Amino acid sequence: MNDVCIHCGICTASCPSGWYTPLVTRRVVGGEVNTMEDVWACVTCYQCEERCPREIKVVERIIEIRNELVREGKIFESHREAALKLIESGRIVPWNEKSGELREELGLPRKREKCAEEVKTLLKLTGFESLIGGG
Ligand code: SF4
Ligand code: SF4
Repeated sequence: MNDVCIHCGICTASCPSGWYTPLVTRRVVGGEVNTMEDVWACVTCYQCEERCPREIKVVERIIEIRNELVREGKIFESHREAALKLIESGRIVPWNEKSGELREELGLPRKREKCAEEVKTLLKLTGFESLIGGG
């Protein structure tokens, strides 16, 4: 592995998201851009990494930038709302009667409150709650 980018642009040409959004992968890797619109346009499909001749960890870099932005308080309102729901309920997708029935059909417990409580505890212990502004 050689992690020096040669700016060949293969990642950009391979990026399905970049065909429709402002994301220019090569520029993100090169540190030229790091806006929320750029880095959140990545759908983590890993096409760029598979094709990069220098085996650069492109997605890792994008996730690092996302984390840096969130630490600076830069977060899309829709993401904050989803995170707050997770903090409140321990679930990204809310439980309802229908999902309970489907779980039972699959032989799973109808509802797993304990898991949701454990997720909530983890979010507190890791500081996620304060990071998002939920407490
Ligand atoms: S494919 Fe790899 S080497 Fe080429 S521009 Fe992208 S990150 Fe740099
Ligand atoms: S992982 Fe992200 S940056 Fe890489 S090709 Fe997929 S959408 Fe584009």
